[in-house]
Amino acid sequence: MTHFALPPNAVIGIVGGGQLGRMSALAAARLGYRCHVFSPEPDSPAAQVCAAHTLADYEDRDALRRFAAAVDVITFEFENVSAEGLELLDALKPVRPGPAILRISQDRIAEKSFLNAAGIATAPWAAVQTEADLHAAIARIGLPAVLKTTRLGYDGKGQMMIRRAEDAAGAFAALAPKPLILEGFVDFAAECSVIVARGIDGTASAFDAVENRHRDHILDLTLAPAPFAPGILEQARQIGLQVAGQLDLVGLIAIELFLDKDGRLVANEIAPRPHNSGHWTIEACPASQFEMHIRAIAGLALPPATRHADAVMKNLVGPEDTALWPAILATPGLCAHLYGKAEARPGRKMGHVTTLFPKGSLPGDFGIADALRPLVIEAPRGAA
Ligand code: AMP
Repeated sequence: MTHFALPPNAVIGIVGGGQLGRMSALAAARLGYRCHVFSPEPDSPAAQVCAAHTLADYEDRDALRRFAAAVDVITFEFENVSAEGLELLDALKPVRPGPAILRISQDRIAEKSFLNAAGIATAPWAAVQTEADLHAAIARIGLPAVLKTTRLGYDGKGQMMIRRAEDAAGAFAALAPKPLILEGFVDFAAECSVIVARGIDGTASAFDAVENRHRDHILDLTLAPAPFAPGILEQARQIGLQVAGQLDLVGLIAIELFLDKDGRLVANEIAPRPHNSGHWTIEACPASQFEMHIRAIAGLALPPATRHADAVMKNLVGPEDTALWPAILATPGLCAHLYGKAEARPGRKMGHVTTLFPKGSLPGDFGIADALRPLVIEAPRGAA
């Protein structure tokens, strides 16, 4: 089969105006493309670096049609965009990844069903509509467990931990009447993720799996590669390639995984877009996750996702980290990124910093903390 690559100067439409769109647009510009952002915010991080902007609600069908007419291919950077809107767009111009993949990733039940059907382990789970369902699910899955809304959750929002049977009714009351899912709590040794790009011709490239450490439910640090045994990194890679292949993905996908205390990988979520845990690839790889995403959706050749350095990425969150910006800029070796957000609200991702190490020499926790100074790293695990 022959596929035509998008020619230079073609226009890529990006639905969503956040930092993932901004960094995708910067990668697209380097490859000679223009980007047109569709987002409801007037001064979004992505619109600031794009050639054109449609300022409209995601449900505005006329605006969606005008946007489709103005672009050559469409992608999205934001998962909570409406799948119906993307379907409307898909009838007019190619949407990559396809809306069917977005639908799976938007619903935790569809997501877990897909993963299990593909033979990929997840935490045990059950759909919960009523309080009686919840008690039956607890009887089957056991405690502790996590009750989550099936849709629109992110950064720990829309979920409640249930440790004791007495907590069940309160957790249900806090989240109902939304459709819910109960998941067994994975007592993980670490959290990790793998990012895969897959082209129109089925070529797939997986970046090395990384370890992700969270603070207040928000990604804080990513260590690339994950400091795990080589066999586990390979298993994560295989899971990534399998998910991308089974979805017939065109574009980029991140799979978030837990490494449990028995050394098994358990899938948690998929995100069919560039991912916060892949920002380190901008400096540490010949083609970053953003470039791979653009190459995949534009029908360009996909190089292997090689890495020429080890890396640690730290998010800059809220006013505390933003206040350190001048000190970060004054520190040699910190690759600094700001997303152009006007207001540094608590918990808001404002930018990130990446620091590189020669390949194979990722240091331990104290070395990482030292390399990231002036940023303050939470006490390494196990420290007093
Ligand atoms: P999620 O919204 O599913 O990505 O969950 C956000 C975070 O909550 C994850 O990164 C984990 O730290 C934690 N978490 C979610 N689900 C589970 C689970 N089933 N077991 C243990 N931790 C979980």
